Amino acid sequence: MCGIVGYIGDKQAQPILLNCLARMEYRGYDSCGIAVTGGSIKVCKDVKRVQELTTTMPRIGGLAGIGHTRWATHGEPSQVNAHPHLDCSGNIAVVHNGVINNFQKLKQQLVAEGHSFVSQTDTEVIPHLIEKYYDGNLEEAVETALRDVEGSYAIIVLAAKEPKLIVARKDSPLIIGVGDRENFIASDVPAVLDYTNRALYLEDGDIGIVAKDGIVVKRGGTRVEREEHRILWSVEDAQKGGYEHFMLKEIHEQPRVIRDTLGDYTQQNGSASLMDADIKSLLILACGTSYHAALVGKYIIEDLLNIPVRVELASELNYWAPSLAGTGALAITQSGETADILKAMKKLRGVGCPVLVITNVVGSSASRIASQTVYTRAGPEISVAATKSFTAQLMVLYWLAMSYSKADARRLADMVMGIRQLPNKVQQVLDNKDEIIKSAKYLAGYENAFFIGRGINFPIALEGALKLKEISYIHAEGCAAGELKHGPFALLGEDIPVIAIVAQDNTYEAMLTNIREVKARGAPVIALAEEGDKDIDQLADSVLTLPKGDAIFSPVVNTVALQLLAYYTARHRGCPIDTPRNLAKSVTVE
Ligand code: GLU
Repeated sequence: MCGIVGYIGDKQAQPILLNCLARMEYRGYDSCGIAVTGGSIKVCKDVKRVQELTTTMPRIGGLAGIGHTRWATHGEPSQVNAHPHLDCSGNIAVVHNGVINNFQKLKQQLVAEGHSFVSQTDTEVIPHLIEKYYDGNLEEAVETALRDVEGSYAIIVLAAKEPKLIVARKDSPLIIGVGDRENFIASDVPAVLDYTNRALYLEDGDIGIVAKDGIVVKRGGTRVEREEHRILWSVEDAQKGGYEHFMLKEIHEQPRVIRDTLGDYTQQNGSASLMDADIKSLLILACGTSYHAALVGKYIIEDLLNIPVRVELASELNYWAPSLAGTGALAITQSGETADILKAMKKLRGVGCPVLVITNVVGSSASRIASQTVYTRAGPEISVAATKSFTAQLMVLYWLAMSYSKADARRLADMVMGIRQLPNKVQQVLDNKDEIIKSAKYLAGYENAFFIGRGINFPIALEGALKLKEISYIHAEGCAAGELKHGPFALLGEDIPVIAIVAQDNTYEAMLTNIREVKARGAPVIALAEEGDKDIDQLADSVLTLPKGDAIFSPVVNTVALQLLAYYTARHRGCPIDTPRNLAKSVTVE
């Protein structure tokens, strides 16, 4: 959520900071600002979009600066609450991502000591604490100040006359982009891709001293080495490439994402130590869209490995003590920075449970907590609504399940064939979307919808509903088809369309019965079905015809169709598709 950026080098900081902020807009924010020093600190901030701030702000000269896009947690979005925040003297400026839990207490103490505050934010205590401890050594003052602070943070500190920026993090993302006679700091990689493809990742508790000519990382006052990584993502990966929205571009990237993610594991014969260990059961934790991937994973892994799998929302797992004897855990997170996931992973690691994480972001916090990391090859996902990262997660889950499968050789051989065909099948869905666009236009006229599925496509009904609600603002519920009569039927009628996912597996007949029940209540039905399914043509009001294939992979093809359905519905309704209201891409607060 929100983002921080920093620059120090021999170029003017202002335009670089504003460009980096613009590249991070997708993360979601309500206000923004920058501070630049050219001997004294000048701040410009407001409840504006980055573009608006850029065009309205005066030119501020200076070769070092910091910037922020805020997603308010303490205090309304306002000019005064926007970051950067200053100390009393105006010589220390701070941008912060995260939450300071004990800020009230700290603020009272600081006020008693004579500091005066202007904002309602928790963040403002940080520059004041640094001011309190500053006696000529900025990094020591930052380190001491952070000892007083409880909570999560990624911070960048700018001091008026110091030729360096001080950075620190705990449970919030932060990267240092390494340049030539210049260095960059940001919450994530897309922010700095225009300038560098080299990055350092700090550990929780590290203090980074970032100057024009070098980066020093310290821990408890002692210097430590942090490896430099080459970023494989390109600038083009983080641009729209001619598509109207990032979401549409990312939906269309899925054939490539499937190939790349599968290629990585099948070619390298990768192994998952978690699965090699003698685990008796598997716990999968995830949030949001990743949770739906986890639910699909449960079906595949139980089917192919014959071990019990339970799936938990990370935000729930954090508040009870699950029994974990003989359990291995798998965490799924696109960003690798989701606060609830990180907390749950730490809890599991703390009781000796091995945790394999599936994530899309190299060097992310989750990869440092996990006992093993498997990377998806989705590339940067800019649209808030996840699409290609979900497909990539499914690919890793298929790969894991197939690699450690107890199924017979023939079944496996069929699956290998099936999975290899997936990129082409997805391409077929992308190339034949007229029917989807027509249904989207129809759906756009409603305010409520149900998505139903059974078996391995029940999680896809949940995912279809999530996609539709988050970008089109139509209230949508995903439901196991057999559950409709246990409550939701009370709502059904001609004003609530039902999107039914029909798979050619053992759920088929039961699904047709459910559709008949829905039709009997007068609700319009849009069905997703394989080509050649004559029964469904008779039953549904419209049919989105999808390519035939092994039913175990049908979640992938169905998901792509539902992503397109949500996308075109939102477009008909004129919604801001890439940045839905109130949502942020990377949910770094609990
Ligand atoms: N808690 C801080 C505030 O409300 C930072 C929020 C953020 O991460 O954007 O200002």
